Amino acid sequence: MDKQLQDKLLELFTGKLSRQVQLYLDTCSRCGVCSDTCHVYASMPIPKYTPAYRAEVVRRIFKKYFKAQGKLLPVLGEAKILDETALDELKEAAYSCTGCRRCMVYCPFGIDTQQIMSIAKLLLIGANSEPEILTMLADMSISKGESIEESKERFIEGLKRLETDVIDKWKIKAGKTPIPTDAQNADILYVALAGAHSIVPAAAIFNAAGENWSLSFFEAVNFGAFVGDPAKTKLISDRIVNEAKRLKVKEVSICECGTAFRVMKHLSGPQPFKVSSLTEVHARYLREGRIKLDQSKFDLPVTYHDPCQMARNAGVIDDPRFILQHLTDDFREMAPDPKYNWCCGGGGGLVALGEETLDFRMKSARVKADQVKKTGAKILATACENCHTQLSDLNDHYKMNVEVKFLSSMVADALVH
Ligand code: SF4
Ligand code: SF4
Repeated sequence: MDKQLQDKLLELFTGKLSRQVQLYLDTCSRCGVCSDTCHVYASMPIPKYTPAYRAEVVRRIFKKYFKAQGKLLPVLGEAKILDETALDELKEAAYSCTGCRRCMVYCPFGIDTQQIMSIAKLLLIGANSEPEILTMLADMSISKGESIEESKERFIEGLKRLETDVIDKWKIKAGKTPIPTDAQNADILYVALAGAHSIVPAAAIFNAAGENWSLSFFEAVNFGAFVGDPAKTKLISDRIVNEAKRLKVKEVSICECGTAFRVMKHLSGPQPFKVSSLTEVHARYLREGRIKLDQSKFDLPVTYHDPCQMARNAGVIDDPRFILQHLTDDFREMAPDPKYNWCCGGGGGLVALGEETLDFRMKSARVKADQVKKTGAKILATACENCHTQLSDLNDHYKMNVEVKFLSSMVADALVH
């Protein structure tokens, strides 16, 4: 690696060294408490898959360039030169971690491996060594944001084709638009993913609740966050922020995409609107009596997978369970405390990398498959697109014998007048 690139990467590293991150890098006592808490290590007990080892890959570079001991006595400080082999190690560490933060809740010092891995991802971007497809997808989202006027008409035409499906689920008053867009002063701006599955059930539920809502022109997914590029993450979420401000909406509700929700809720700074997940909105409608559900609609045992970015990392734990109380009388918890639920193994961009990561995703999430099977449930509900894809793959691979369902689709199918 030439000196110029090394300097550029060290500058990026310096930019990530907040006091908190320095504390994380300084504090690990290598107690090993976190090892078994990572689904990857629990499923494949190889030392490189422990959270502490992953963090050590970053920590050794930190020691080499940012600590006196590493500068003077690299051997004693276990310091590591930032070179091509270091980049390989960073890539393996960063893209075998889903950022689920299960290790963090067990660590006596609260060390956040995900934040340490965000340094690894940033260095990979700086060296053009990140998974190219994630950057391409992030760039596509950004350029779509820049030329939205050109695609608006096509988008609205596409929505027209979905209207019958929405009305099939919930008939609305004549003259009302089943999927409104560009509605000024709407109470809710709903940000969906590409695809009818993310729009139709949500639209039916908004209509059933008599909501004054509008569908965003943008997709919620944030590939900038998956690849760990803070600038692109912001550009992608800014498209939605600007639309919400232009329409003067009161609330932005993010579809079933854990990462998109966490970025908007916790990483986009203070905004003049409230941010909620679709799950929270549905729970609110039930509490306020704005929708009613047929509890006999699903007569099979149901379990729920907590998307890490929604539950452990954003606190949406009680609302999905409240909704499920209205959908079944046979709900089966996976973990005594949902905060400790196993990650599905698909986060951190791994599902977006598709076939390339399939083998690793299946092997590293064996504990998740065992956890689901143990419940004996026949319906596995979740509220995140990534999790849904990964759980469906696990279902095939491990013959879990469940039907994987989006919570919102269950709500829409059980709506009663
Ligand atoms: S539990 Fe915390 S202190 Fe112990 S090895 Fe893991 S990260 Fe380090
Ligand atoms: S954040 Fe999750 S995947 Fe990453 S090291 Fe911790 S437990 Fe493992």
